[in-house]
Amino acid sequence: MKKIELSKGIIQFIFEPMEDVKYGNNVIAVISGDKAMIIDTGFDFQTEEVKKGLEELGVSIEGVIISHFHENNIQGLKKLKGVTTYGSSYYQQTLDQWLPMKEQTFYIPAIKIDKNRKIIFGEHALELIYNPGHSLCTLLIKINEEYLFIADEMMYAETGEPLLPRITKNDIINHYVSVHNLMKLNRYIFIPGHGEVIRDQHKIIIDAKNVCHYLCEILSHDEEISIDQATHGCTCKFVHTEWHENVYK
Ligand SMILES: [Zn+2]
Repeated sequence: MKKIELSKGIIQFIFEPMEDVKYGNNVIAVISGDKAMIIDTGFDFQTEEVKKGLEELGVSIEGVIISHFHENNIQGLKKLKGVTTYGSSYYQQTLDQWLPMKEQTFYIPAIKIDKNRKIIFGEHALELIYNPGHSLCTLLIKINEEYLFIADEMMYAETGEPLLPRITKNDIINHYVSVHNLMKLNRYIFIPGHGEVIRDQHKIIIDAKNVCHYLCEILSHDEEISIDQATHGCTCKFVHTEWHENVYK
């Protein structure tokens, strides 16, 4: 695990990829005094490391904002009993995709955000923005009008390359709109759920255009098209191209 202070009181915890994937996990801590609000938890062992890392600074976790309800973003909630959780009201469908109903108790957010919500956390201003795409429950999180946590709406490998969108056919239109929205927010420094922080506004536009191009190609063909056809005209090489199969499942 690596720990980077992005700005005073904003720490990025970076976890290496698990063995079968090419991307790691980010957990962000926004700190005020001796309290932290974290964005996502990663897997449970990663949450333990974040907790320890913060405790070394004399800081305890008071709240968790969940960007969306996939396993690698929230599994560590089990290790954070008694901590206030914030997440989209539309969590159910995403949880149902990977977890039986009777095991969902740990993950249901205490504070359900219907669309958008501003949270003042000490000297920090956080804004949660409903932006369904990669999942129906995605919240983008603005931090102090400087950073934008973009969840998995654009994902990156540990080595920096963009990942192919991980979606099914039902998500394509939402995901297109979501990534298009991100282009309009490129004045912010982007913090992806997976990958390095992006400070280059130009790079954000190029990466978003490539994702949109891929999605458009799928949408404009009634028949199934190959990954090569769908990415022909993209100016990048996506990683995890096997996810293309998910679109047609
Ligand atoms: Zn995800």
